[in-house]
Amino acid sequence: MPLKRLNNKVRITSIVLAILGSAMFGYALLNGSLAGRQAALKSGQTATMNIATGLATQVNLSFRAADLLLQEIAALDNNNPLDRRDMRKLVEELLNRQSRLFPEMDTLLVIDEQGRILQRWPAGSNMSTTTLSTSPDGPASTSEGGLKIGAPMISRVTGHWVIPLARTRMRQGKPAGEFRLGVSLEHFQRLFDEVNIGAQGSLLLGSRDGVMLLRRPFGEQFLGKNMVELPLYRDHVRQRSSGWADINSMQDGIRRLHYVTGVPDYPLFVSAALAHDEMLADWHAAQASQLLVIVAAALIIGLLTAYLLRVVRMRDRAEDEIEKKNLSLKLLTENLRAQAMLDGMTGIPNRRYLDEQLQLVMQNASRSKSALSLVMLDVDYFKKYNDLYGHIQGDYCLQDIARTLQMVQRRQGDLAARYGGEEFAILLPDTDLAGAHRIAQKVVDAVRALAIPHEGNAHGVVTISAGVYTCAPRPETRIEDIFAGADRALYRAKDDGRDRVADYQPPHTVVSGKAGQDGRSGDASA
Ligand code: GH3
Ligand code: MG
Ligand code: MG
Repeated sequence: MPLKRLNNKVRITSIVLAILGSAMFGYALLNGSLAGRQAALKSGQTATMNIATGLATQVNLSFRAADLLLQEIAALDNNNPLDRRDMRKLVEELLNRQSRLFPEMDTLLVIDEQGRILQRWPAGSNMSTTTLSTSPDGPASTSEGGLKIGAPMISRVTGHWVIPLARTRMRQGKPAGEFRLGVSLEHFQRLFDEVNIGAQGSLLLGSRDGVMLLRRPFGEQFLGKNMVELPLYRDHVRQRSSGWADINSMQDGIRRLHYVTGVPDYPLFVSAALAHDEMLADWHAAQASQLLVIVAAALIIGLLTAYLLRVVRMRDRAEDEIEKKNLSLKLLTENLRAQAMLDGMTGIPNRRYLDEQLQLVMQNASRSKSALSLVMLDVDYFKKYNDLYGHIQGDYCLQDIARTLQMVQRRQGDLAARYGGEEFAILLPDTDLAGAHRIAQKVVDAVRALAIPHEGNAHGVVTISAGVYTCAPRPETRIEDIFAGADRALYRAKDDGRDRVADYQPPHTVVSGKAGQDGRSGDASA
C-alpha cells in the first residue's frame, strides 16, 4: 500500500525533524547560556581586581602620608629636642598644616621611654591616663622602613577608632619612647562605603601577619580580629601576593569571588569580593526569559508534531475507510452483475447470460473443432394453461419446470437458462447430437412426470417439446445461427405432435463430442 508507506515516511520524518530541531535549538541555547555565564564571571573578576587595586593604592597613599609626617617629626625632634618651647610650636605648626592636607590623621602622641606623654595633638583634648605602653596595642607589624602598624583601637585622645602607627624616638643613639600617629578608621570606612560591591559583597583591609584592620560589612567585632584560621587568609593571602579566591564564607555562607592584593610598601593587603549570586543576577534573569522561550518552542514543536501525526493518522484511517468502501462496492457490483444475469422469476440464468456463455462456448469449440449442442424447450399449449388456471399459476408452473431443468443437467459447463416467455434453453458444450438428444428426452420425460394438471393438454398434464441442434462452429458462425437451428428442430417437435424431442444437424457437419463417460454420444438422427 504505497500511500500508507508514504504516511509512515511522513511520520518518521516529522519525529526525526522534531528531535533534531529540539536538539539543535537546545544546544544553541545551552551554548549561549554558558557563554553568558562565563562573561558575567569574567566581568566579576575584572571588577574585583579593579576595586582591590584601587583601594590598595588609596591605603598606600594614606599610610605614606602618615609615615612621612612621622619621619619629619622625628627629624625635627632629633635636631631640636621637643622639650623646648619654640620646638613645640614648630611641631604644632607642622601638624596644623598637615592636618589640612592629611585629614585622615586623628591623633599624634610623643611618648618618652616611661610612657609619659610629652606632647599630643589635638592639644586641647582630655587624656584619661598619662601612662601608655610604649608600643601600639595588639600585635604590631613593622614595615621595611621601620613603621610599626598596630591593631585598630580607640584613641585615648579623641575617643575615635584609629589604626595606630608608630616610629621609635631616638636620643643619643638610644630608643627614648615613640612617635605615635592614629589614622582615622572612619576615613577608610568612608572609602570602603564609596565602592559599589552590591548588597552581599565584602571588602577587607588586613595586615600580612593576620590582623583584620577593617571590614565591610562593618562591625566592631571585626576590628583587630585574628584571621589566621580564615580560609581567605590561610589559603590565599599567606600563599601569594595577589590573585583570585572563590570562597564560601564561613560567617554567612555566601559564596564570593575575592581578589586579594598587597598594599605597596606596607605589610598590608586589601581584598574585594562580589557575591556569586549578584554577579550572575542579570544572567539569572536572562535565564528565566530564555526558559520561557525554550518552553514555548518545545510546546510549539510538540504541538506541530502531534498535529502532523494526527493528520497522518487521520489519513491512514481515511484510506482504510476508502479501502473498505471499495471492497464492499466491488462485492455489490459483483452481486448486481450476478443478479443481472439471473432471471427474476425462476432464479435460473437469463437470456443475457445464455448469450454470453454461448459466445464463449462457440469460440472454444471453433478453436478446438469440437461439437456444441443447444436444446430449445417450449411449454405446450401454455396460452391455454394461463387461460385455464390464471397467470400466477402459470408462473408457478414455469418455476417448477425451471427447477426440473436444473436437476437434469449434469456435466460441469452445461447451462440451463430461461430464454424468454415459456421457452427455455440448455447449452451443452462438447456434446454430440445423440448425447444432447438424450438430455433433452430426460427433461421432456421429467416435466411430464411432474404431472402438473393441464385440462387443455391431451395428456391431461403439462408437457414440453424440445428441439436439439448440434454443430461444429466455425469462426464465422453467429449465435443467431445456433438459435435458428435449435428453433427449427423445436418447430419440428411441435409439428410432430408435441411432448417430444426433435433433432437438427446441418448436412455435412462432422461432429465429435466427449460423450463417452456420460453416454451423450450416439447416432445422430435428423
Ligand atoms: P404451443 O404449444 O404452440 O407452444 O402453444 P402456446 O400456447 O404455448 O404458444 P403461444 O406462443 O401461443 O403462447 C405462449 C404463452 O405463454 C403466451 C403467454 O401468455 C404465455 N407466457 C409467456 N410468458 C409467460 C410468463 O412469464 N408467465 C405466464 N404465466 N405466462 C407466460
Ligand atoms: Mg412459445
Ligand atoms: Mg408454447
